[in-house]
Amino acid sequence: MTIALRDLTKVYGRLKAVDGIDLDIGEGEVLCLLGPSGCGKTTTLRMVAGLEWATGGDILLGGERVNDRTARERNVAMSFQFYALYPNLTVAENLAYPLWAEGHTKAVVRRKVQATADRLRLGSIMDRLPGQLAEGEKQRVAVGRSIVRDPACFLFDEPLSRLDVQLREEMRGEIKGVLQGLKRPTVIVTHDQLEALTMADRIAVMRAGVIEQVASPHDIFQRPANLFVAGFIGTPQMNLIPADFIAADETGTARFAVEGGQTLAVGVDPAVHDLPQGTRVTLGIRPRNLEIVAGEVVDGLSATIDLIEPMGAETLAHVSDGRHDVRVVCDWHVPLKEGERVHLRFPTGAVHVFGPDERAVRSAA
Ligand code: ATP
Repeated sequence: MTIALRDLTKVYGRLKAVDGIDLDIGEGEVLCLLGPSGCGKTTTLRMVAGLEWATGGDILLGGERVNDRTARERNVAMSFQFYALYPNLTVAENLAYPLWAEGHTKAVVRRKVQATADRLRLGSIMDRLPGQLAEGEKQRVAVGRSIVRDPACFLFDEPLSRLDVQLREEMRGEIKGVLQGLKRPTVIVTHDQLEALTMADRIAVMRAGVIEQVASPHDIFQRPANLFVAGFIGTPQMNLIPADFIAADETGTARFAVEGGQTLAVGVDPAVHDLPQGTRVTLGIRPRNLEIVAGEVVDGLSATIDLIEPMGAETLAHVSDGRHDVRVVCDWHVPLKEGERVHLRFPTGAVHVFGPDERAVRSAA
């Protein structure tokens, strides 16, 4: 079973909520739709589920076009959260409930409930009421309820959004394991990047109805395709510094003129070397990749520490060269003083370069 979306579009009045997206979700694959509020994630999911008609494009389930089929005919499971259990029903009855609702025979219900209980290790708690369960167990039962019908695919809309922080962490790992074992395509909508990074096999980052990048969590983080993805993924946010490309030398070091008059020399992707001199770019570097050096360095930026924010094991320093607020995260024991003059080193390979079209300038992987 697979899900394929081709040029899928949804128009509300004059708003293109979903603007021609293409996506393939493989058997057993967990894909997270990630993006800011209003970017079209839920609308996309609802179209796959059959709860919303597509304005244009195709929805293919297992290779068959299902645009004209009702939600029921599509046999997909859409659930909004993992937490709603009936308090007066036992675990076994909670699991069986969606099957009763569909009018299955007792034998079928028993078999499917058993299979789900085995998969989620619920065997020892089947006779308990929700009030007698630990939170983690409740969540496993809730997941069980959404998978017990054994639908063709799973669609989840912000499934963890109502949980407290600790439970959320436990569930992220739990859900990933469960979903991968189901051999069904799964789409999870979330605006929480950590959720997407931990649960997804691949992430589709959306903005304003359009998919900006589809890639593994690792690639989304390490090889953002454009400025939007670079700025959206990662906390603290990636530093984005406007600069003009000057030239590259034979060692692979490129020089950039940074606003304010300083020159930065840094080893970058070879594709950058081919940019015309004077090209306006944006340099991206993650706060954890920058190094603060006390002494003079020839290849970095001089700056002043404006603000220090201790974060436990690490310290977040806001450093300014007079033009840009640059965020640097370093180990807690690195001695830093507000007002101190320092130098920022940009290690080779850590700088992303985005061209005037906002796309990453990068050689093929
Ligand atoms: P959120 O995380 O806030 O739910 P989202 O990415 O899921 O955001 P959607 O709910 O898909 O976004 O909405 C996409 C756009 O379509 C928004 O601008 C929203 O206001 C609009 N929209 C959604 N449903 C309707 C509707 N029934 N009628 C008109 N506009 C709608």
